Amino acid sequence: MKTLLILASLAWSTPLLISTPNAPALPTQGGRKVVKTEAEWKKTLTPDQFTVLRKEGTERAFSSPLNDNHEQGVFYCAGCHNAVFASDAKFESGTGWPSFYKPIAKNAVTEKSDKAYGMVRTEIECSVCGGHLGHVFDDGPKPTGLRYCMNGVAMTFEKADPKKEAGK
Ligand SMILES: [Zn+2]
Repeated sequence: MKTLLILASLAWSTPLLISTPNAPALPTQGGRKVVKTEAEWKKTLTPDQFTVLRKEGTERAFSSPLNDNHEQGVFYCAGCHNAVFASDAKFESGTGWPSFYKPIAKNAVTEKSDKAYGMVRTEIECSVCGGHLGHVFDDGPKPTGLRYCMNGVAMTFEKADPKKEAGK
């Protein structure tokens, strides 16, 4: 009986731990945060987006049209429409994945240590929905020396509006 009680209390404590209100809040733009269940993400994302954003998958190199995108504009997280990268910081890395030397804002993305496949890499997540976007490496160009290697499928692109720019 005692064992049963302990097991029951363990089962209770796990979900409570995840939703603890005292967990440190992620630094987000404007404090916005998007939390959805796996089933809800499956409904709103394409299967490829789901695999990358929610399952930390990696798209095939050269598979994303955003890799060759040279237009002026902003790249958004495909999961929650958080602005993550600007075309100004995009460069040709030759890797086959859209690459940037910096995020659009410091708090637009969150860094996380990733020890999968016996390597220690730094994973880049969207700071609003926690979606996996890619990894960052320290072999990038000036001025930061960083290479944000992103999955194009995890992002959407919106062209800068020249009319809006002129009216500034
Ligand atoms: Zn997001």
